[in-house]
Amino acid sequence: LAARLDDPSLLRQAALVGPRWLAATSDDLAVTNPANGEVIGHVPALTEADAEAAIAAASAAQKVWAGRTARDRATILRRWYDLILQHQEDLAAILTAEQGKPLPEARGEITYGASFIEWFAEEARRAYGDIVPGHAPDKRILVMKQPIGVVAAITPWNFPNAMVTRKVGPALAAGCAIVLKPASQTPFSAIALAVLAERAGLPAGLLSVLTGSARRLGAVLTQSPQIRKLSFTGSTEVGAELYAQCAPTIKKLGLELGGNAPFIVFDDADLDAAVEGCIIAKFRNNGQTCVCANRIYVQAGIHDAFAARLCDRLAGMQTGDGFSPGVAFGPLIDRAAVDKVSAHITDATDRGARLALGGYPHKLGGTFFQPTVLTGVTADMAIAREETFGPVAPLFRFETEGEVVAAANDTEFGLASYLFSRDLSRVWRVSEALEYGIVGVNTGLVSTAEAPFGGVKLSGLGREGSRHGLDDYLELKYLCLGGI
Ligand code: ADP
Repeated sequence: LAARLDDPSLLRQAALVGPRWLAATSDDLAVTNPANGEVIGHVPALTEADAEAAIAAASAAQKVWAGRTARDRATILRRWYDLILQHQEDLAAILTAEQGKPLPEARGEITYGASFIEWFAEEARRAYGDIVPGHAPDKRILVMKQPIGVVAAITPWNFPNAMVTRKVGPALAAGCAIVLKPASQTPFSAIALAVLAERAGLPAGLLSVLTGSARRLGAVLTQSPQIRKLSFTGSTEVGAELYAQCAPTIKKLGLELGGNAPFIVFDDADLDAAVEGCIIAKFRNNGQTCVCANRIYVQAGIHDAFAARLCDRLAGMQTGDGFSPGVAFGPLIDRAAVDKVSAHITDATDRGARLALGGYPHKLGGTFFQPTVLTGVTADMAIAREETFGPVAPLFRFETEGEVVAAANDTEFGLASYLFSRDLSRVWRVSEALEYGIVGVNTGLVSTAEAPFGGVKLSGLGREGSRHGLDDYLELKYLCLGGI
């Protein structure tokens, strides 16, 4: 991998603990390329004491950082943003090597990830407070926004760059310090970001990148009274565990958890647009995103045409190593992911679903899997209730709007949902009825720095992106001025 990079120093085999880089040895944790199993490099397995040191450094640095002007902070963030884009190609290569997604998709993630640094650098200067009409003639009410303090972030492997910037961007912009624990499968993207942050002039201690056991380090971060907020993206199961661990110290929580996104295609939809939207919503990152369409409901009148067109388009798309030109679908992250995908398909076909395309591990071997389309899927199947996180499109046939809205909402999750229709009243009605944090209308791509991303129900708490994303890192302070 280092040979592909213009700047090989971005692939740093070290963790960042406060101001200190701790180098890995070849006995430390190995990071492998999911496309071929090759070892990319090593990162250290840090201890509880290292996590404590990172928190202490963050605490000290945060007080100084919070005292600087928003413009000052924004200038450094803007420089970081510029450096990320300057090194986009290298960052994309590191990302593809450790995560597996096709290189063009990795480039896209770098642009998308960087956009959160840019956005929050801009928003930092607009953390306005309020002056409220007072409740007594001699009193005045002022409300100001202040950084919440030291923040911890735990991020997943599916977006090794963007899930980091979505948390670090607003935290630093708001005047917080942040201790980050990236996923063990994909630490190098986060480490490369930290190298660039240092070059951008970010003061030491404000950003730590811890590597090692998430459970061990997570326990220190969640128990620490100095950490005032935890931002986590990952499974609902782990999110609930972290929520409980944070209870004794009453931390503010940002949780981006699992989804079970419905993708609804009405008879009056534009067929081509719906199929293209479905391919993006379902197969981006090979189905490994929390906003991936998980249940595709197609109205009876358009169902067969939609299924045929979808299979047709997918059959022409290539699976392979993310570095090979023309590849649309990379490997799955690990063997467990392949097992889950296979189990969902077997359960569905055992209960009467039909394979319209794919259905099996890819002939490339490893963790490659064929893009798969199932028809005749029903609510009793595991795939209808659980997030598959793989390249499987399960098609449900439906008749009426009422029926599909009830089916779409019949889940404990509530992150993204999608609908395709050209009837404006229906678009409004269904959008309002869907119990989700996000509704994509006639589009399969909803994530952007300008919009509030987040879920309801078991999909989480808080929002990332938009002006609301900054508020999640700020506390309100109310000043009551008397004797006027
Ligand atoms: P995923 O399916 O994305 O791996 P997880 O919820 O298992 O979902 O993991 C998301 C992140 O949470 C990863 O960075 C992982 O290392 C971390 N994690 C997993 N278990 C724990 C835990 N018990 N405490 C803290 N972090 C954890």
